[in-house]
Amino acid sequence: MQKYDYIITGTGASGLMLAYHMVIDPFFDKKQILLIDKEIKNKNDRTWCFWEEGKGVWDTVVSKKWNHIFFGSQSFSDTIDISPYQYKLIRSKDFYEFIFARLQEKSNITIVQENLIGFVDEGDIVEVETDQRIYLGDKIFNSVLLSKEFKTQQKYPLLNQHFIGWFIKSETPIFEKETATFMDFTVDQLGNTRFMYLLPTSETEALFEYTLFSKDLLSKSEYEKGIKAYLDSKGIKEYQITEKEKGCIPMTCYEFRKQNSKNILHIGTAGGWTKPSTGFTFHNSDKRVGKLVKFLKKNNDLSKFEKRNKFWYYDLLLLDLLSKENQHGAALFSRLFRRNKTIKILRFLDEETSFIEDVRIMSTMPIKKFLKMIWERVLK
Ligand SMILES: Cc1cc2nc3c(=O)[nH]c(=O)nc-3n(C[C@H](O)[C@H](O)[C@H](O)COP(=O)(O)OP(=O)(O)OC[C@H]3O[C@@H](n4cnc5c(N)ncnc54)[C@H](O)[C@@H]3O)c2cc1C
Repeated sequence: MQKYDYIITGTGASGLMLAYHMVIDPFFDKKQILLIDKEIKNKNDRTWCFWEEGKGVWDTVVSKKWNHIFFGSQSFSDTIDISPYQYKLIRSKDFYEFIFARLQEKSNITIVQENLIGFVDEGDIVEVETDQRIYLGDKIFNSVLLSKEFKTQQKYPLLNQHFIGWFIKSETPIFEKETATFMDFTVDQLGNTRFMYLLPTSETEALFEYTLFSKDLLSKSEYEKGIKAYLDSKGIKEYQITEKEKGCIPMTCYEFRKQNSKNILHIGTAGGWTKPSTGFTFHNSDKRVGKLVKFLKKNNDLSKFEKRNKFWYYDLLLLDLLSKENQHGAALFSRLFRRNKTIKILRFLDEETSFIEDVRIMSTMPIKKFLKMIWERVLK
């Protein structure tokens, strides 16, 4: 039976990013790499956005960039210039096509369409089971959320960033195409943290996503009612829905990294690469993959790759608070944007701020509420 050097399970965002970084690096030319996914990834199944300074690896597939974002709420609204950052949009179909074209040029890459059942680290080899056969590999990078422990455990709260989005086309130019609406909390909160996310790709086309950070999902009609009400409030009456998308991204400080072993590394959302307090995953995965390919050149023990950092504690406090007082999300985020420079917030969310900068940002938040959360966490 052939043994692979690396097996990547799941060819979504993180699996493909890793495969791409491997094929553009000659270090991996002699490595046999197997990619497994149950689907053929050729649909536009998600729209990824992230902020980035200057040029980035994925610029070839970025289809829209904004220099301004809008933050809105009852107490504070502003259109903000985010330079030196740009907010970038990638349609997943473009991303998949671009990477698969590169992978197909390489003879050391094998891609199979099979359903992953499980895998086990046998110490010096990993056995990967699909619905078709067993594969052997030295190392596996898994992005398939097979374990549901993050949902059943009680130690860390689990919120979801959940939404339905409509791609809308209008006959007449109605969208301000130079500004992406990052969060608009002026929608009825109904006891939750609810906001509209709006990405205008031209004067006549935009994606509207009715989004919540909360525990429980809504019925389809509730999200759609939210989008309709928002369109109505903006006087947008004549439009066509050209595409729809929906998502549910787990927001949790559950320690996915504890499932890693010497030869198994969980990546992407399955590896805890989703920022717990925001649901943003794409850019974080990109940064982690960059570190990972460097790590692989020097290290053999994958369990040493992930470490907990100070941002994990900050995320935990915010999630503790949002899960207990979900109705206060709008006030919390408004306060954050009103009292801090947006580029500082973006840097903080990117986990690139110093401790002094963290303290400055946190001092603008409701201290008493956060101290209460710390105290309750300590008692736990
Ligand atoms: C609609 C949507 C929009 C999003 N927008 C953003 C955004 O704007 N910015 C951002 O930072 N994040 C965003 N996210 C969050 C995150 O970036 C994406 O979910 C991202 O795709 C996660 O990458 P991943 O590799 O962890 O998982 P995925 O991309 O979901 O890849 C997992 C892969 O595993 C495969 N798979 C699943 N089960 C099996 C099985 N049993 N056997 C074999 N293969 C299997 C799937 O087919 C899939 O290809 C969004 C998520 C969604 C759902």
